[in-house]
This record gives sequence, C-alpha cells and structure tokens, in this order.
Amino acid sequence: MSFVKGLRCRECGEIYHVAPIHVCELCFGPLEVVYDYEKIKKVISKEAISSRKKSMWRYKELLPIDGEPVVGIDSGFTPLVKSNKLAKALGVKELYIKNDTVNHPTFSFKDRVVSVAVSKAKEFGFNTVACASTGNLANSVAASAAACGMNSYIFIPYNLEQAKVLNTQIYGANVVGIKGNYDEVNRLSSEIAGKYGWAFVNINIRPYYAEGSKTLGLEVAEQLGWRVPKNIVVPMASGSLLTKVYKGFKELYELGMVPDLDVKLYGAQATGCSPISMAVKEHQELFKPVIPKTIAKSLAIGNPADGFYAIEAINKTGGWSEDVSDDEVIEGIKLLAETEGIFAETAGGVTVGVAKKLIEQDRIPKDESIVLLITGNGLKTQEVLFDKVEPLKIIPAKLDAFDELVKGKEKTK
Ligand SMILES: *Cc1c(COP(=O)(O)O)cnc(C)c1O
Repeated sequence: MSFVKGLRCRECGEIYHVAPIHVCELCFGPLEVVYDYEKIKKVISKEAISSRKKSMWRYKELLPIDGEPVVGIDSGFTPLVKSNKLAKALGVKELYIKNDTVNHPTFSFKDRVVSVAVSKAKEFGFNTVACASTGNLANSVAASAAACGMNSYIFIPYNLEQAKVLNTQIYGANVVGIKGNYDEVNRLSSEIAGKYGWAFVNINIRPYYAEGSKTLGLEVAEQLGWRVPKNIVVPMASGSLLTKVYKGFKELYELGMVPDLDVKLYGAQATGCSPISMAVKEHQELFKPVIPKTIAKSLAIGNPADGFYAIEAINKTGGWSEDVSDDEVIEGIKLLAETEGIFAETAGGVTVGVAKKLIEQDRIPKDESIVLLITGNGLKTQEVLFDKVEPLKIIPAKLDAFDELVKGKEKTK
C-alpha cells in the first residue's frame, strides 16, 4: 500500500491516476507524484524511521511503490562524513560530505532513482526496462534489470568513459552506443519509448524515478539530527536531483520532522556544459540549450529537462549556481581524495570545485553548515587522471635503492 494520491502536472495542476506517463495531456507539462501528507503524518515519526534498516527504503511512506522493492533493497543511507581536513582547506567551520560513491549496487546516486523506477516498472507489469544515460544510470539500470530478471535496453553516447560502458555490458544488458551527445540519445529514446512500449526509467517512468532522488535530501536531514543544512551544493545534469532534494526537505518540514526550511540550494555544473548555472548567473528564468564539451560526462546534458525548475528552486531558496573548468574539476577530485580519502568521479570534482568557488566568493558563508553531495565513484572515470598524477617511482627490490629514493625526505619513526 502506498500513500500516493496520483500524478500532478507541475504547470497546470491537472491530476492523473498512477500510470506509466510523464507529461500532461493538456499542456505538456511534466508530471510529479503527489502524496497524502495528512495520512502520512499519522503513521510516520522520526523514531519509527530511525529504528528501520539503514537503506533509502526507511522512507517508504514517501516513495511511490505499492509493494516491497524488487531491486536496490540496500540502496541509500550512505555515510554523511563530517569533514575536518577539507573544511580546513576551504576555510569553513561545518562541512559534510554525503558520500554516494559507495552507494549500492553500482556506486552512484543513480542507484536511488533506479531502485524506485525498476520496482515501479515491475509493478506496472513491464518485462523490459530501458534508459537514455550519461553513464551512471546505464550501470544501475543494467545491474538492477539483471538482478530482478528483466530485459534491459540501454542507450548511451558512444564515447562515454570505458568503465561506464563496461560496467553496463557486464550485466548482460543490450547496450547501444549512439553517434551523438546525450540530448540526441534522449530524443531518439523518446521515439523508441513510444514505438516499443518499454519502461524507460527516465522517460515514461520519470515521475517515479525522480522520487528516488529525494532520499538524498531526506537522509542528509536525518543524519544531521533532523535538520536541514543551511547550504547544500548539488551537481546538476538534468537538474532533477536538485529539485527533488528540495522536495524532500519541504516534505520533512510539512510533516513537522525538521524545525525549519532554512536551506539554500547551490547548483554545480562544468563550464563546458552549464546551461543552468549560466541562466542563474545572468538572472534569467529560462536557460539556453548548449552543446556539451567537458570531461564531466555524467553531467553533460545540454538541454536539461528540469532546468527551469532547478533555476526556480535555486532562486527561491536564495542560493546560487556556479561552474568550473575541466582543470578545476581535476583539482576538485584530487582535493577531496587527498583531504578526505574519498575518490569521486568527475561530477564530484565539479561539486568540490564549485563549492570552493562559492566559498571564495562569499556566496556560501564560512560559519554556516554546508553539505556537498558527492554522487559518483572515481574508479569509473579514471582516464581523466592518467596524465594528472605523478609517474610511478620504480626501483629494484633492494634496500639501498629505497634508501636512495627517500634520502633527505624521511626521518625514521
Ligand atoms: C545523473 C547524475 C547527477 C545528476 O543528475 P540530474 O539529472 O541532475 O538529476 C549527478 N551526479 C552524477 C554522478 C550523476 O550520474
């Protein structure tokens, strides 16, 4: 049983029954899941949630599936790491890293959306799940489909990172490389979705998929002791994650589980694909689509489906958005690894780089709580670093060779 009332058009408010649909028939606006919060209020409590298993499903009343999840039962509830060294390096007092590099089963935040989307697709009776992906979604859909015995079709730009491709193929998925960027892959996928009638997790299942993103926000609030952070930096591709983190915070506030909604949302993009951050910086309500050119491929969406709503959420909360160059992305990856021992993918480098910039600009106050959402694992995007680390020091297996190597550098003990 779920607490879902139906789907609502974000533009005109028209209500629809739960179905595998994502756009309003009247105005073509995107649909969003709505819940019966009065009913949820009666059954949910901080204590009840805190006593449950440490996964994203501890918030099941706020998720849109009817039965038990069929995949991703261990997804979510990743560590919220209190940072000492990175905080010091950035000159701030209270900094946390939400570490989705260790999410289950495929090491990115996308395991959250896929757990919901694939479980919902199964409830709808689909046999085949599909997606258009910038990489991490591909990994997660392929793994989840394998685990629950569904067929999968995965559409990706042909030139993704090697590990992202291999980590999709290994699960036996039908992987198709498209000669084009994500926006072209997505357009083709919409046509395929219409023709073949599959469950495209980020097309016709998108309203349910997006609810999974919310759990990142819900967890951050719980892990902070049931309060929202004053500042949160969120990487943006389609902009969906940012809008849903905000939805999660609003729901907790509405349910009386956090004392205030005093949070500012900051969007992070790579300069080579920054339609949303451009619009925010130029005080525009609408973004201009771009052709992506950046090493942060997981965020390379030039025509972001939720861009408009992301801009709105950023402005409404009094936040801001920034973007960083590819060199700054690399620096961000290294800084996080060297200070916190967390190896993030390029999107994590974007988030750290943008946080650094916003702190230097005094947009993010140094004496307030700050959370960085680190959403993907560095082992998947290693090629951007091959020529950015020192060459390996190689010596014969002889003690005097080692002595020579460290001479003048190391004291004994
Ligand atoms: C997909 C993705 C995001 C953000 O995606 P949205 O489309 O904005 O929801 C962030 N980080 C990583 C690593 C991703 O793969």
